[in-house]
Amino acid sequence: MKMTIQKAILELAEGDITLQDTEAIVNAANTTLLGGGGVDGAIHRAGGPQILEECKWIGGCPTGEARITTGGRLKARYVIHTVGPVYRDGRHGEPELLASAYRSSLNLASQHKIKSVAFPSISTGAYGYPMEAAAQIALTTVRNYLEGHLGIRLVRFVLFGTMAYEVYERVLRAMREEGR
Ligand code: ADP
Repeated sequence: MKMTIQKAILELAEGDITLQDTEAIVNAANTTLLGGGGVDGAIHRAGGPQILEECKWIGGCPTGEARITTGGRLKARYVIHTVGPVYRDGRHGEPELLASAYRSSLNLASQHKIKSVAFPSISTGAYGYPMEAAAQIALTTVRNYLEGHLGIRLVRFVLFGTMAYEVYERVLRAMREEGR
């Protein structure tokens, strides 16, 4: 599913983020940046040890912020590592921190003149953020960013599994209908 925002495309795909040919892929990392499970583990496995070396040198990343490394052996030239919030009950700043993780990643992409970015569904695995609430924040934050910034031409959400894809699709469709 696709939506056009200014001159950019926001699209949803089901699949594995490590296989994407966008200029950058985003990693749902943890504050140590030293690797973990889920999408983080998959990116380091596919990209090789170079990425971890750069992460060690960077030395960590606070929740809601982002850092950039090269893509190692990945097709993507860069990996943007961002840290989403651990979900408790939604009243501990989780929505703002999740939006900030997306915004910080897009800001870094803009600074590096990156034109295409793939995102996973940040915080919805081990960090326990409810998928629908996370999708709402993810899609709204990216749409608002693209409305205010030219430069990035493609943002692709790469959803892991049919369930995640369907939730994002439903939320994006509702956003599009509200926009009319
Ligand atoms: P977090 O700690 O931010 O919750 P996880 O990696 O545990 O990060 O999960 C984030 C999301 O990424 C989950 O929805 C999970 O299903 C998804 N995911 C896991 N592996 C991949 C992959 N290879 N490509 C895309 N998404 C993935």
